[in-house]
Amino acid sequence: MGRHPWLFAGAIQAVEGEPADGDWVRVCRAEDGAFIAHGIYNSKSQIRVRLYSWNSEEDSNDLILTSRLNQAIDLRLTTLGLSLRDSFRVVYSEGDELSGLVVDKFGDYLSVQMSALAIHLRRDAILKILADRMNPKGIKIKADRLMGTHEGAEFETYWQGEEPKEAFEISDGHLTFLVDLRAGQKTGFYLDQTENRKAIQKFSRGKAVLDLYSYSGGFAMHAARGGASKVVGVDSSAAALQLARRNAQLNSIQNIDFVEADVFEFLKAQEEASFDLIVCDPPRFAGGRKETDLALRKYFRLNAEVLRVLRPGGILVSCSCSGSVSMPEFLDMLAGVGRKVGRAVQVLEKKGASSDHPVLASCPETDYLKVVVAKVGP
Ligand code: SAH
Repeated sequence: MGRHPWLFAGAIQAVEGEPADGDWVRVCRAEDGAFIAHGIYNSKSQIRVRLYSWNSEEDSNDLILTSRLNQAIDLRLTTLGLSLRDSFRVVYSEGDELSGLVVDKFGDYLSVQMSALAIHLRRDAILKILADRMNPKGIKIKADRLMGTHEGAEFETYWQGEEPKEAFEISDGHLTFLVDLRAGQKTGFYLDQTENRKAIQKFSRGKAVLDLYSYSGGFAMHAARGGASKVVGVDSSAAALQLARRNAQLNSIQNIDFVEADVFEFLKAQEEASFDLIVCDPPRFAGGRKETDLALRKYFRLNAEVLRVLRPGGILVSCSCSGSVSMPEFLDMLAGVGRKVGRAVQVLEKKGASSDHPVLASCPETDYLKVVVAKVGP
């Protein structure tokens, strides 16, 4: 077992005793009973045991989870040097060996997502540590619609502490963005692209920039701040664009146009070679491995359309957040697009999510974000 945190039902030979759903269990090798890991059992989940520790010296109890949580917080506040004034991902599930728990910090508020019964049952202890160490004004505990079917636990979204009355400001780089966490709003902010948004400033000076799948204008605003001559942001969500327009105003940025449209439709209506720099950050195209081929074909079609409107010698920033598509597959797709349109794709940078989204080497699923910055020839 290569320290992957999921033990699927099919891999278990026998269950000794009668563990209840949510109980700690010791996972041992079938041949000789040698200890493998401590985990939490759930008979209703395909992931029959989530593994949280490979150390036989530790006791099989909740201290494992609380120490993982404190380690995750230490990583951000000490190793990465983030401060309690910043916005960042506090806990990244398997990336922090805390399968089933994601915590994002947006300014003074925390947003908690639980996707495992193991975590849900221990939420009070987890929320207490988060409250003590992060000192938030309020914590949103977000319902996960898959919890009922996948884990046999369902709950409604609720708040602990203060619930913000309206959208509030956070900073991302040197820019200010509005985040709206109120009930019924699903708008947060994509923290994983923080470093990549900052990084496009250096390519933006004097350029005509197109930000596809713009959401609240993240890349568009950084391009404008980097000196772009004009910026167009495209998204199909009216609510996202409403935030985007308010964000532009808040930062006194005038030269951005936000367009509500489907990206494919928008691209078809554009003249060839109209932009110097294009960011393309679509939502996830593939859930699991089975959908990978379909997703790669969709990325191919999308990037081919994008290149049509990118001028010769322009810069493409192409992203994929489909966990099952690997970086080599994504690069291969881009090479195929280059061949099809007869243009050289010169990769300048290969990037992933910011370091507050650590990739657990033994869990490739945590390496979901791929960002390729390329210069595309004539
Ligand atoms: N780049 C953004 C995050 C993008 S998230 C940032 O840095 O903050 C993906 C966005 O794609 C969402 O805002 C969603 O509304 C939008 N979207 C999904 N399907 C779309 C489509 N077919 N056309 C346009 N936008 C779409």
